[in-house]
Amino acid sequence: MQAKTLLEFRFVAVRFVKVAGNLRPESSLKPKSSGLTLDHDRWESKNLDSSASACPAACHSNSMSNIIMRLSAAVSALKPSATIAAAAKAKELKASGTQVFEFTLGEPDFVTPQHICDAAKAAMDAGHTHYTPASGIQELKQAICDSYQREYGLDYAPNQVVVSNGAKHSIHNVLTAMCGPGDEVIIPTPYWVSYSALVELTGATPVLVPTTQESGFCLSAEQFENAITDKTRLLMLNNPCNPTGAAYRVETLEALAKVAVDRGIPVMSDEIYEKLIYEGSEFRSFASFSPEVKDLTIIVSGVSKAYAMTGWRIGWTLAPADLTKAMNTLQSQETSNPCSISQYAAIAALSGPQDCVGEMLEEFKKRRTYVLDRLNKIPGLSFAEPGGAFYAFFDVSSYFGKTLGGGKVVDNSTDFCTALLEEGHVGLVTGEAFGAPGYVRLSFASSMDVIEEGLNRLDSFLNP
Ligand code: PMP
Repeated sequence: MQAKTLLEFRFVAVRFVKVAGNLRPESSLKPKSSGLTLDHDRWESKNLDSSASACPAACHSNSMSNIIMRLSAAVSALKPSATIAAAAKAKELKASGTQVFEFTLGEPDFVTPQHICDAAKAAMDAGHTHYTPASGIQELKQAICDSYQREYGLDYAPNQVVVSNGAKHSIHNVLTAMCGPGDEVIIPTPYWVSYSALVELTGATPVLVPTTQESGFCLSAEQFENAITDKTRLLMLNNPCNPTGAAYRVETLEALAKVAVDRGIPVMSDEIYEKLIYEGSEFRSFASFSPEVKDLTIIVSGVSKAYAMTGWRIGWTLAPADLTKAMNTLQSQETSNPCSISQYAAIAALSGPQDCVGEMLEEFKKRRTYVLDRLNKIPGLSFAEPGGAFYAFFDVSSYFGKTLGGGKVVDNSTDFCTALLEEGHVGLVTGEAFGAPGYVRLSFASSMDVIEEGLNRLDSFLNP
């Protein structure tokens, strides 16, 4: 009886939306049988090159066949994450029985260390399977603060921490709490795929500042200063950087920090690759330069990359207490707490033995050396050596205008990646997704066997 009432209510509510949306009369719609036709078409026209996500119009739902679900302008303008889309394309090819050598996703191929999994099981057995405070449990916040004190000498208190569903969610919290229409957010390019999309979702404008291979893809203080206007709300910095692997030199960071303080511009410093640093580079947390800099810094990080915990979805922000309070309120209304069990696992990651991080880093080092050596030997490719993270980002533009693989002329990085996947069965991500036409990204978070064969194939695709 109750269910019926609910259904009736939903029917009325949907009809109301239809009327309120000033939709065209039914007769002018596309064939009824396809259901939600207009939005499906709009979706398809924007997503021709991607099989990454299902049509949001749920076009095969026959019970709603003559109703149009209108998308918001902000969501209509969103493109699916290009890295996830590239991975989905590779997966599709795999599903057809083809062996694909996959370098698209920024996801360590290692299993989550055993002591972390054990902590999760113990948490379940202890009954930690319910809601927690929206911004995370006190013990995890304390473990996060302790780890910043231990590793970087930074003093944070638990009321400066919000634990979220992965670092991507943390970034969304920062932007939603701080930015809106009319605001500008400075983003050095190449940038991680979601940065500009998440800024646009708030109604703010991303201000893209190109960095060069010669500068190691690092933003200079001068570039930062020149991009500031009276609308600037935030600089989004990513160190070490996805997709370039750029690890900022301490002097460069210090100069950027000076501009931030002089001009009063907050900096969101995404440090999720902080533990993956290679010889010749060092990591310095942006907040560490002075108390003034710390007051202007929002650190974003998490357990996904260093502890091979991408699926557990735990990220965090460290920020001044008042901003933290606002993000806590936002999160309490949007998602509530991140997974309770994952929070206990994250405590084990941060407070337990750290050898696992060193072991994974050793393996990444071997892969990096191998990948860079092979790329160096392929004529016409160039790159800046990655100082951190697990990506090689290289310029393939010298191959544009040439016929590669199955006879198609390749004119840009997207064509390049498509031809390489279709003809060579190697999955890379186009630089266009990162605001860097001419480049492609290879994630070496894959096993050595896959890397070796993938690079053999890349080599013979380019030089048959
Ligand atoms: N920032 C950067 C630079 C990343 O590369 C990623 C993941 N690819 C994230 C944030 C998001 O991490 P998480 O999986 O914890 O949401």
